[in-house]
Amino acid sequence: MSDDKLQEAIDTLRNYGVRITPQRHAVLEYLLNSMVHPTADDIYKALEGKFPNMSVATVYNNLRVLRKIGLVRELTYGDSSSRFDYNSTEHYHIICEECGKIVDFHYPTLDEVESLAEQVTGFDVSHHRMEIYGKCEKCQQLEPQEH
Ligand SMILES: [Zn+2]
Ligand SMILES: [Zn+2]
Repeated sequence: MSDDKLQEAIDTLRNYGVRITPQRHAVLEYLLNSMVHPTADDIYKALEGKFPNMSVATVYNNLRVLRKIGLVRELTYGDSSSRFDYNSTEHYHIICEECGKIVDFHYPTLDEVESLAEQVTGFDVSHHRMEIYGKCEKCQQLEPQEH
């Protein structure tokens, strides 16, 4: 379904002179088709059957390469494990406070906030981060209704 996107990503890698190893290809493909913002460990677990010799470190190295050239975004939340996201279009995230699920949320980029912040503070703004928190539908259902 996202073959075009995969091809596009592979072209980008080629343009940057990055070698496309079977593992790198698989990591990229997994991220492209994943809606769940996996951790490096999740990716490792999903792919270890296919690549028995691959280590978590290999997954990390591949993610680092993909992040460097801007194909992948790393989401850090101050805990041990970063989540990884294929960097397609600008989007925001809504995060479940119960189960930690991260869902894409499309909303026009808040450019005005950045320019206002620059004006007010004199900073050279590089980016901003906005996250919305709550309880996902699944977790709402798990919660017994109080009467
Ligand atoms: Zn949840
Ligand atoms: Zn996302």
